[in-house]
Amino acid sequence: MPWEDVIGKIQAVKILRNALISHHVAHAYLLIGQKGVGKRYLARVFAQALNCEESKENPCGQCLTCLKILQGSHPDVITIHPEGKTMKIEQVRELQKAMGYSAFEARQRVYIVCEVDKMTKEAANSLLKVLEEPPKDVVLILTAVQTEGILPTILSRCQIVSIHDISLEVLKQFLQRENTNWPPEKVHLIASLADGCIGKAQQLGQNESLEQERNAYFDIFEKIPFSKEASLFNIAAQWEGTKEGLSDVLELLCTWYRDIMIYKITHNGTGLFNSDQYERVQKAAVISVEQCVLSIDTIKEAQKKLRRNANVQLALEVMLIQLNQISRR
Ligand SMILES: [Zn+2]
Repeated sequence: MPWEDVIGKIQAVKILRNALISHHVAHAYLLIGQKGVGKRYLARVFAQALNCEESKENPCGQCLTCLKILQGSHPDVITIHPEGKTMKIEQVRELQKAMGYSAFEARQRVYIVCEVDKMTKEAANSLLKVLEEPPKDVVLILTAVQTEGILPTILSRCQIVSIHDISLEVLKQFLQRENTNWPPEKVHLIASLADGCIGKAQQLGQNESLEQERNAYFDIFEKIPFSKEASLFNIAAQWEGTKEGLSDVLELLCTWYRDIMIYKITHNGTGLFNSDQYERVQKAAVISVEQCVLSIDTIKEAQKKLRRNANVQLALEVMLIQLNQISRR
C-alpha cells in the first residue's frame, strides 16, 4: 500500500490522511524537507489517494490511475521542476494555462510544483495569482527545502507540512528489506552516508564503485595535515572538477572529522559514520577534539560559501589550507 511505502514520515502522512478522512483537503500544500527526503514521492501518493479507483483515502497502488500517477504519466497529475537554476515565469504561466482547462480523467487534478524556494520574483508573483483562485478540482502541492526565499503571501496560502529526516534505524530497516543481499556493514554505511535521505540512499546503493571511490577520498583526507600548499591546490582543482559530487565530498570530509572526534571520546569504533575506516580514523586521532570541531566548522563555512555561489576553487583552497593549519596547531 502506497501510504505504508512512505518511509519514516509519520507526522506528514498523518496530516495528509486526516485531510482526506475529514474531507478537508486544502487547495494548496507546501512540503518542506531536505533534498532527497521523499517530498515528491509523498506528493504522488497523496495524488493517488485523491484519485484511486478503489479507495478514497487509502490508494491501492495497483489500479491504472495509481500506476499512471506513480509513473508520472497521468494527464491530470503534473509535476513541474525548475528549468535550470530557477523556476521561470513562463513555466508558471504554462501551469496557469493548463489549470484553465478541465480534467481529462481525474476526480482531483494535482499540480506538483517542485523547489518553489528557487523561483524568480516574477514566477513567484505569478504563482501567487494561481494560489489566489485555484479551480475547485485542483490541489497544488509545492515542495521546497526551506521556507526562506518564499514569498510570505505564498506561505500564508498553503498548509505547510514539514517532512523530517528519516532516522538512521528506520532507514537501515528499509534498506535491508529492499536489498536482502546486502551485508549489514553495507546497509549501515549507506544509511549513514545518506543522512536521512531515502533518495540519496538509493542513489548510493546503485553506485558499484562506491567503496573504491570512498577509499580514494579517505586517502586524500588522511594526507591533508601533511600536505604542502601546492598539493592542497591540486586537491582543490581535482574536487572542483567533481561538480555535482562536490557536496557529497565535503559531507564525507565532515564525517571524517566527526569520526575522529567520536573516536577521541569513546576510544572504540561504535558510533562511527565510517565504521569501515576504523583503522584510518584511529591513526588520524592524533589531533584534539577541539581541532576536530574547528575543522568541521571550517568545512561548514566552505559549504555555506558554495551555496552562495562563491568561486568554487577559491573556497576549496581556503578550506584546505585552513584544515591543514588547524591540524598543525
Ligand atoms: Zn488505486
